[in-house]
Amino acid sequence: MGLYQAVGQCKYGLLDRSVRLESKITNELCSAWWKALEIANSKLEPCKFSPIWYNPDFQVNNQPLHLAVWEQNGITHLHHLFSDNTFMSYTNLLQKYKIKNGNFLHYLQVKNIIKKRIPTLQSTLRPPALAEAIIKLSPTTTKTLSKIYKLLLSTDTIHLPISKWESDLSISPEPDFWTQICDNAFKMTKYTNLQLIQYKILHRTHITQYMMNKMGFSDSDICLQCSQNTADAYFHALWLCTPVKNFWTNVSEKLSAILNCRIPLSPSLCLLGDLTTTDLPRKQSQSLLVVLAIAKKTILVNWKNKQSLNINLWLNLLINHISMEKISASNKNQLLNFIQTWSLYVNYLNLNLVT
Ligand SMILES: [Zn+2]
Repeated sequence: MGLYQAVGQCKYGLLDRSVRLESKITNELCSAWWKALEIANSKLEPCKFSPIWYNPDFQVNNQPLHLAVWEQNGITHLHHLFSDNTFMSYTNLLQKYKIKNGNFLHYLQVKNIIKKRIPTLQSTLRPPALAEAIIKLSPTTTKTLSKIYKLLLSTDTIHLPISKWESDLSISPEPDFWTQICDNAFKMTKYTNLQLIQYKILHRTHITQYMMNKMGFSDSDICLQCSQNTADAYFHALWLCTPVKNFWTNVSEKLSAILNCRIPLSPSLCLLGDLTTTDLPRKQSQSLLVVLAIAKKTILVNWKNKQSLNINLWLNLLINHISMEKISASNKNQLLNFIQTWSLYVNYLNLNLVT
């Protein structure tokens, strides 16, 4: 289901209960897009890439606009109706899209509705700057998603839920603290998968029991994975929940042994990637962020069954990652760099990596 179609149907109450979750997710996607536009200081105006059908911007008598035949004939987005930044004439439209004559009233209706929303029909219908930047990223290039996140992070303002983190962790850091945390998420590794995990955690995007309850999909917000009888809020799910806390305790002990240096059991370090709590050389602190991201990946993989969390799951993912780093380093003739970064882990875990 197309994004706008789903939003349109949701908005007009056309969805049944079975697809409520899908519509909820769609709404979240729209909210994310609108938020992204806000972050990038882009205006939410129709542009040449705006869909025409089921778009809440284009309504007729409070109903979504939709002409099935026009859609089937290839008219789906605003740029299909414009030629040289001017609304196409009826005759040109019929010729270009092979629509039968007898659609003049529909033509007038569509033109009128769109004209109301776009006061100047000579408008260039230029997309928001963010959309233009995303379009420039060819989908065939690698790390597209990572580049989009970087784009959003490149604005001056930090849009993390800072106050929630500061309240949960009882911290009141310096202003540049959060800029550093954002930078660390991308500088620690070139692997998009881990960058994305860290980015999503910083933005608290994972669905908890508390969130399910808030969205109306569950009768209770109490965590079902421990016996604390407390709400499964984000910080609980990622840190305080009993099996998760035990897991983090084991991770911190294991890391202290590997690095021969005390790695504190600190949510600021483990969750946010705040390196001020340790005193490691640069290469080791970079790999520490990576292994902590892998620990978070382990928690997310076991998100619905946290009782099964254990240190070996993390170690297995860690060994896979180090093997991948080794292969990549060999191919790029960067083995020295690999050794400087990972030798403590390789030695401790007794890894016999194939050269
Ligand atoms: Zn719990």
